[in-house]
Amino acid sequence: MNYPVAERFKALQGEGVYTGVPMAFIRMVGCSVGKKICTSCDTDFDTIYPHLDGGTYNPKQLLEWVGNYRHLCVTGGEPMMRDLMPLWDAAAMTPDLVFHVETSGTQENDLFDFSDSPFLWICVSPKPGFKEELVAKADEVKVIYGGLGNGPGWPGIADAMRWAAMGKIVYLQPRNNRITLDQKNTMEVVELVKKFPMLRASIQLHKVLGER
Ligand code: SF4
Repeated sequence: MNYPVAERFKALQGEGVYTGVPMAFIRMVGCSVGKKICTSCDTDFDTIYPHLDGGTYNPKQLLEWVGNYRHLCVTGGEPMMRDLMPLWDAAAMTPDLVFHVETSGTQENDLFDFSDSPFLWICVSPKPGFKEELVAKADEVKVIYGGLGNGPGWPGIADAMRWAAMGKIVYLQPRNNRITLDQKNTMEVVELVKKFPMLRASIQLHKVLGER
């Protein structure tokens, strides 16, 4: 199995429960949701970018690149479009490596069958077309405050509250600019989380730091 990787890089996780944790990020090419729906999408996933260490890699090559990092994050685009089982199997051979995956919750994948594993962390940031049964398998849910587009189907505060009531860890994350925070949206998220304390705020640390 070879994976088309748009880019790969090592950085601090900027979002959610693992904020501040060093991670090896692999961004898969392609997204089944797309920028016609997510008009404010802040990621480039359309092709392989060799100057960003993108390429076509097999699981062994990717795990060698992860090196001594203890957290591998597969993101996109929409990584659940791919057969992730060979990469998951290879990751499972690496002691203490936690395999993170970030998904829109719109694509079924065999990886969801392992959602109870302590070495698999599934972050669902629901986009239009999300499936409730996949959100239910998430370790954390990130609701983008304001959505990333203006069409129908975006989850809102009521959905966030409902998932929190189910026992999910649920973040509100402001819709930010590509590189920097949107101060207005960020402060509105802060106020909402203070009003609804079953929710949490995800502030995108990497944009505070000016990193990827
Ligand atoms: S699902 Fe994510 S990667 Fe895909 S278009 Fe939307 S914001 Fe961008």
